Amino acid sequence: MRHLPRLRIQRTDVPRRALVLTDTPRPDCRECDGIGGIEHDYGDYESGEYEGTDWEPCTCWNEHRRWALLPLPRRLRRSIRDPWAAHGYSDEPPF
Ligand SMILES: [Zn+2]
Repeated sequence: MRHLPRLRIQRTDVPRRALVLTDTPRPDCRECDGIGGIEHDYGDYESGEYEGTDWEPCTCWNEHRRWALLPLPRRLRRSIRDPWAAHGYSDEPPF
């Protein structure tokens, strides 16, 4: 099975709780080795103290390309009706 689809199901809380399909990095990408991005450690250059890591997404994928599969309970998406509900709640405010 070498040709797995480059899509992955993830849970997200942004902008609201949902299961989403996301694009994934190209496994043989030379830029990121399939990791999906390049990490840059940064810190205070004078003291040399480590302050954190910047994550620069690689261009071989689009981390913002995602498709909502279904909203998780409690917060219903505005644009997608709950398939299990008899009548949708699309007229409710998002929050
Ligand atoms: Zn890449």
